[in-house]
Amino acid sequence: MAEGGPAPTVGWVGHPFLRHHRPGPDHPESPLRLEVIEGVLEAKGLLDRLVRLRFALATAQDLALVHHPAYVELLRLACEHGFGYVAEPETRICPESFEVASWASGGVLAATDAVLDGRVGRAFCAVRPPGHHAGPDRAGGFCLVNHAALAAEHALRRRGLARVAVVDLDAHHGNGTQAIFWERPDVLYLSVHEHPLTLKYPGTGWPGETGAGPGAGFTRNVCLAHGAGNDEFVAAQEDAVLPELEAFRPELVILSMGFDALATDPMAHLAVTSDGFRRATGRLVEAAEGLCGGRIVSVLEGGYDLAGLGPAAAAHVGALLGTLTG
Ligand SMILES: [Zn+2]
Repeated sequence: MAEGGPAPTVGWVGHPFLRHHRPGPDHPESPLRLEVIEGVLEAKGLLDRLVRLRFALATAQDLALVHHPAYVELLRLACEHGFGYVAEPETRICPESFEVASWASGGVLAATDAVLDGRVGRAFCAVRPPGHHAGPDRAGGFCLVNHAALAAEHALRRRGLARVAVVDLDAHHGNGTQAIFWERPDVLYLSVHEHPLTLKYPGTGWPGETGAGPGAGFTRNVCLAHGAGNDEFVAAQEDAVLPELEAFRPELVILSMGFDALATDPMAHLAVTSDGFRRATGRLVEAAEGLCGGRIVSVLEGGYDLAGLGPAAAAHVGALLGTLTG
């Protein structure tokens, strides 16, 4: 935030129903993730400073912005008929999963409208299941529907924007988002992730993957080595993400905000702390202030250490609010 400027308003998307996607008691993508985030935001007095946004269920037309209708129908039927998973054994579903994912997308679309209408300056969407591994016609990882990609398409096709950037700070590469926008010059996809990842998921995100056809040069993968910490994480923003944003001049920044780069996270091997998330978010906020009126829609992706997730999300939200503590 510019010194002396007014504090920005930050919208909040969250709802208890989003906890009804239950991938199983031993699955890392637990409904408790939302509970701990909300609990810490409340305890730190941050939740009261957010503007709670109303939202509706995303429709089939909404989901078709980035997903093939046949995939959406397959996912709906798989949930309805009680299948245990789609795509990969860890992509677990329950009967409520399709509806929860649709509510999550609806929340992110509402946040995008609120930011574009100027009702809030930025927004944080505490939604699940996450989305960045979901591609045009498939689920992947713990992801069913790609909420961040939907928000970008909504802003471009329905709200008339010409350029949207999707910045992905999850510890894993967002292979779904990359696939969706691979040939597109109007979406800049920037992913900062651990690579090569010891757990080998998803296996994409090499620096040489930069888009194709009209989208050549509009995908950028920034790799962090095993064990990279706050300095490397923030340097990735300063040395790679911010220069790309400045060259692209987005009208809106969608943030795929994972917290699995935390040192304590079981799904990756980075060593970022809450302070690293605060500093990285602060850099992005400053850049967005100069480029697009500060318009950021932040969408929760991964983050599986239940003890560390709440404080990390609070540091992120504090930086979106422009406060140095949180
Ligand atoms: Zn992840």
